[in-house]
Amino acid sequence: MSKLNVEGTMLFEQPFVRVPYENYRKIFKSSQRNLDSQMAAVATASNDLSGRAKAGGHVPADAAKSIDGMIGRVENLKRKLSDLQESAGQPTQDVMRERLQYLAVVENVPNTNAPEFSRWADTRLDRWLVDWALRTGKEKTARQIAKERSIETLVDIDLFTDIRRIEGALAKHSCSEALAWCSENKVALRKIKSTLEFDLRLQEYIELCRARKPQEAIVYSKKHLVAWQDTHLEKIRQVSALLAVLPTTSCGPYKRLYDHARWDTLVSSFRLAAYTLNTLPTEPLLNLALYAGLASLKLPACYAHETKNADCPVCDPALGKLAEEVPFSHHVNSTIVCSITGRIMDEDNMPMAFPKTGYVYSREAMEEMAAKNNGIVTCPRSGSTCEFSALKKVFIS
Ligand SMILES: [Zn+2]
Repeated sequence: MSKLNVEGTMLFEQPFVRVPYENYRKIFKSSQRNLDSQMAAVATASNDLSGRAKAGGHVPADAAKSIDGMIGRVENLKRKLSDLQESAGQPTQDVMRERLQYLAVVENVPNTNAPEFSRWADTRLDRWLVDWALRTGKEKTARQIAKERSIETLVDIDLFTDIRRIEGALAKHSCSEALAWCSENKVALRKIKSTLEFDLRLQEYIELCRARKPQEAIVYSKKHLVAWQDTHLEKIRQVSALLAVLPTTSCGPYKRLYDHARWDTLVSSFRLAAYTLNTLPTEPLLNLALYAGLASLKLPACYAHETKNADCPVCDPALGKLAEEVPFSHHVNSTIVCSITGRIMDEDNMPMAFPKTGYVYSREAMEEMAAKNNGIVTCPRSGSTCEFSALKKVFIS
């Protein structure tokens, strides 16, 4: 029975905890903003009131009106905060709690053979399938799996739907959705030194130049590009020349700025920033988990037609494609497998070699073949034939 590698298992789970945490952080910030602005207004009003009272110039009716105003404000604030808590705060906290409880199961599992681990791992596979479906644009499939397996709180459908919505807008050459997202995540983007916002602003500017609206382009540049001059002065200088350069230019640097392919780059930059903020890997979790297994099995033989093995996952064309990315495994003690039966060759099922060609198959396979062909065996690879008794035993040392 193998003990569970808890740390290794948890390595995959960072985004699982991070995504709802990021959501909650945003909800908290929004409550805080509301609180700050309303309380500041109340403080101003009350200072004003006490100032007037001290100066002796207060009218009771005005004072009552001002106090009513303050009460109204605070009541409004209370309603707003409780709405926010009910519609977003509480559900997000529930998601966080459920996810942490789900992870806690792993810490108490005695070993990987325990039934509670296999149930846990089944759910994990479902989660990875949903993650894979969401990343490959199969949102309906993702929703269906999540619903059928009742794992809606354990997967991030809303996040991916949002990412997809913004990517779709960029693909239609609209920056506003992505810019709104940048402003929502301003601090976090600054922390990871993302230049996404600048790239988006630059694109909007380029589009104004493409549409030959120089006046608007200048205003736009002053408003949105100049703020970046500490870090992007060179680029800002370069694009300012676009005011005088037509989109039909054949001059390399300006042609590249007008290139529509920049929109595709924006889509990828946005996706990368969104994934990074949520600590999501750029590849589906399912692929990453498969890589680990494939790396432990991958051999050069998996990629040669004549040495493929029916029972080896890496020999499968689809998984083999995925395994191209991972290094070959290093076996200190190799296991030799018969290419006919797929069974392991050892002292109970000796490897037998054809005398001329040296190709090796298991004793079981050769016996079976000999029994069907009056004692004659044929090598499927070289086509050479001989009596079963002419095969040579191969000893593994
Ligand atoms: Zn293989």
